[in-house]
Amino acid sequence: MALRSASRKPHVVIVGAGFGGLHAARRLKKADVRVTVVDRGTSHLFQPLLYQCATGLLSEGAISSPIRHLLRRQRNADVVLGEAKNVDAQSRTLTVDRLDGSTMDLSYDHLVVAVGMRTSYHGSEEISRHAPGMKSLDDALAIRRKIIAAFEMAESLPDAQQRRPWLTFAVAGGGPTGVELAGQIRELATIALHHEFRCIDPAEARVLLLHGGDRVLPSFSPDLSRRAQKILDELGVETHLGVHVTNVTAEEVETTSKAEPHEVLHYPARTTLWTTGVEAVPFAGVLARALGVQQDHGGRIPVEADLSVQGHPEVWVVGDVSSRDNLPGVAEVAMQGGRHVGAVIAHLVDGGTDRAPFRYRDLGNAAYIARRHAVVQSGRLQLSGYVGWVAWGVIHIAFLAGVRNRLGTVVNWGATLLTDSRRERAITYGDPETARQPYR
Ligand SMILES: Cc1cc2nc3c(=O)[nH]c(=O)nc-3n(C[C@H](O)[C@H](O)[C@H](O)COP(=O)(O)OP(=O)(O)OC[C@H]3O[C@@H](n4cnc5c(N)ncnc54)[C@H](O)[C@@H]3O)c2cc1C
Repeated sequence: MALRSASRKPHVVIVGAGFGGLHAARRLKKADVRVTVVDRGTSHLFQPLLYQCATGLLSEGAISSPIRHLLRRQRNADVVLGEAKNVDAQSRTLTVDRLDGSTMDLSYDHLVVAVGMRTSYHGSEEISRHAPGMKSLDDALAIRRKIIAAFEMAESLPDAQQRRPWLTFAVAGGGPTGVELAGQIRELATIALHHEFRCIDPAEARVLLLHGGDRVLPSFSPDLSRRAQKILDELGVETHLGVHVTNVTAEEVETTSKAEPHEVLHYPARTTLWTTGVEAVPFAGVLARALGVQQDHGGRIPVEADLSVQGHPEVWVVGDVSSRDNLPGVAEVAMQGGRHVGAVIAHLVDGGTDRAPFRYRDLGNAAYIARRHAVVQSGRLQLSGYVGWVAWGVIHIAFLAGVRNRLGTVVNWGATLLTDSRRERAITYGDPETARQPYR
């Protein structure tokens, strides 16, 4: 397909409509530019609530918003559904693969890359086959399918020994996502599913939280980690610290002690979920080669102080995939980075020549542990228990995109608290490969 260049206004092409890309696009609303946002999906995804989608609390629609809808009032912005595949730095052209197998070339004056990261299995094919990660809607729905199906399978089996592996859920990684997921599986089992089965008692579900470090939530203070651990213990989550998950099969998970490498344990578990480690998406490698820069150890692209790429002042990288000053891979870094780049581009297009450096303002961290328990850390402020839980809820609602999603989520949380039920438990058996290629 031919280059799209309808007008002479500078063309800003943004790859990725996650937190970084969306905020860059919005910041350019009043700039005298054309903006094209390219994403391989149709929706902006609120990753921090993926685990609630995976455990039947929220629907996929509640945590995602159509990109077109979010940009509907931004007259200078257009949206393209497709996967960025190649960059020609000389001719300043981005090539996008379309769903029907065709390609589209987009010429750019500025290219903003905000493609995020994906789950890393540290090279293990076997683990990637059996232990879904938690980065996309596909992941959340795959996890939901595994969890719900495991209870159904256990219900259909005659004796306790056969049921055991189906009722054992292993979660690899004790960061916020692992902790949230482990806690939610226990809550699903002990509250929502408690009275719905006839043969099994879902509350017998064993949830193993397998973590390599010496405390859960290592990005929080030791005190908040301790408080989170206490709640996890009360919920019945079995935490194993100082262990690496070294293999996962359809039937079991293998752990190796960090301190005693010969201490290898095997837990029969039909469901293992992977929340440890991220790596760059393939497009980051393509971009790095096209621009002649070296990716960091996680595959991120190094950027200058203004978030542009060295030697290519018209190419910008923001969010999780950008590497600068060890900034954490969190939504705030991506949002602030996107807004920063949008502002600098608007300034340059307006005739400005200076490029302000990006300064990150750390607003803090939050993690949900269980009903009425969350931890929040912002500077010296540390909240936990009920107060932390309310603060966590307010923060997440504030950052969800779209009024309808915010209202829907509050109503859903309220209904879940009042009725103890979880209604978003539908599972599908579609072939994800064909579903992703509807025209082939
Ligand atoms: C389970 C989970 C929980 C989290 N919880 C929190 C939290 O509580 N607080 C917090 O601050 N942060 C949290 N984070 C981190 C936060 O979500 C990320 O830091 C943030 O999403 C990064 O934004 P981004 O724009 O860099 O990338 P993303 O939001 O990942 O967006 C990348 C976009 O690029 C698109 N894309 C990728 N490759 C291509 C391509 N080749 N062509 C076209 N499009 C492409 C993707 O479809 C996606 O829309 C969490 C992350 C996860 C996974």
